[in-house]
Amino acid sequence: MNLANWLERAALLHPHAPALLRGTSVVADYAEFYRRSRAIAGAFRSQYGISAGDRVAIFMHNAPEYLEALYATLLLGAAIVPINAKLHPREAAWIVRDTAARLVVSSGQELGGLQAQLEAEQLPMLDATGGDWRALHDADPVGQPVRRGRDDIAWIFYTSGTTGRPKGVMQTHGNLQAASLAYFTDVDAAERADCALYAAPMSHGAGSYNFVFTLRAARHVVPASGGFDPAEIQNLAPRLRNVCMFAAPTMVRRMVSHARQTGFDGDGLKTIVYGGGPMYVADILDAVDVLGPRFVQIYGQAESPMTITALSRSRVADRDHPRWRERLASVGAPHACVEVKIADADGNELPRGETGEVLVSGATVMTGYWQNERATADAIRDGWLWTGDLGSMDVDGFVTLRDRSKDMIISGGSNIYPREVEEVLLAHPSVAQVSVVGRPDREWGEVVIAFVVLEPGHPEDDGALDLHCIANIARFKRPKQYVYLGDLPKNAYGKVLKTELRRLLEDDPPTGS
Ligand code: AMP
Repeated sequence: MNLANWLERAALLHPHAPALLRGTSVVADYAEFYRRSRAIAGAFRSQYGISAGDRVAIFMHNAPEYLEALYATLLLGAAIVPINAKLHPREAAWIVRDTAARLVVSSGQELGGLQAQLEAEQLPMLDATGGDWRALHDADPVGQPVRRGRDDIAWIFYTSGTTGRPKGVMQTHGNLQAASLAYFTDVDAAERADCALYAAPMSHGAGSYNFVFTLRAARHVVPASGGFDPAEIQNLAPRLRNVCMFAAPTMVRRMVSHARQTGFDGDGLKTIVYGGGPMYVADILDAVDVLGPRFVQIYGQAESPMTITALSRSRVADRDHPRWRERLASVGAPHACVEVKIADADGNELPRGETGEVLVSGATVMTGYWQNERATADAIRDGWLWTGDLGSMDVDGFVTLRDRSKDMIISGGSNIYPREVEEVLLAHPSVAQVSVVGRPDREWGEVVIAFVVLEPGHPEDDGALDLHCIANIARFKRPKQYVYLGDLPKNAYGKVLKTELRRLLEDDPPTGS
């Protein structure tokens, strides 16, 4: 079944239900949302030759048009490639080329930057917030959604890889349907009166949650700012009511601190799903105290979108269970549609309480990485997805994450692979060696720290290195601090000892406390 069937059904059953909103203004009801998507799909097909199996890249900030582009693509049986709007245009261009996307939907500064990178390709690019896009609303519409099988690709999500090159996670119609149904079973009872508020990037999990709300013919709201602004959310929530949103731990922290300043008690907010990075127990306790029992935690990764374990609203708010604190520090129990086990390096299940790698199997697990069989074979073995996360499971089935087997840094909910940053810094003429690690940080979860060994005679110059990073990678990946060393600590094989570097940072208290 095609995920776009859910939009068709919502439009037939609830044609006049408000569907797309910018702030509190309704942009389209469900009949109009479906009509526009079919018209845009018609234009994609007739003007750009898009058909089943093709890829359409979306590189833009949150906007109601995001969902129009998404459903237009799905209606044709093509797959979307949502690209994080915060990426450097060079990084976005790499993804567009890797998927051989035939069309790019973009807007504003993202469009200009990408056009410059892809000048030679002469790839068609549409500005979703301009007049040309609105003209597509009047194109000849397509009929019903093209039929799709469970394993047909719907969404290719690029995650940063340990090799420095991002990998395209192929999420199928079956994966995303299972993940959406898992929302109903383990996260929240979404209803038609609900309002999905997109404060986190729609290119990520927050965007893939749209299917849940489309199925229910609920409202999709993009804040006028197009992003995350605690003051704006506080203003919108009481007016919209039944607001459901995904928020990374950093966002939750900011919402709580803003609410505390203004006396906001969460009025109008129904559910805040948090995850994507570790949440400090003290912070979630604070959040429930200030904003009320509106929080549900999820643990997932692009390879099993938003769906590995969940900690329900009642468990997040619970203070009565004898082990409530441990549970609050956990990521919850497995979602209904997946099996989760903790395994040793050979894949053997470990006894409860022991730490090993978290393995997942089930309907939400990706079919593999786009045109990357080696990485796929490495990630999925004997039907199990190796998450790269280290954790343990208690006797009741609650999973607690301990560490990551990969080097990944999670800062403000965004993943950063040290290798990507290291490769960029190494290209700078004054850098002889570099090693990048994460340092715990109260506000961001972790921040990027670069240890640099300079070429002889070159001066320490944070500003120059910073400018070099800005020119080459997304701003959020830039080191927050540069530490200059005479040499990097290495083992007998010459491998840099990141544990030693992290130890050096321990002498320096975490920032932002
Ligand atoms: P992504 O593929 O960008 O969704 O990142 C997934 C990674 O984020 C996981 O493999 C975990 O390391 C981390 N993560 C996701 N959810 C949580 C959570 N609730 N608590 C701690 N870490 C998490």
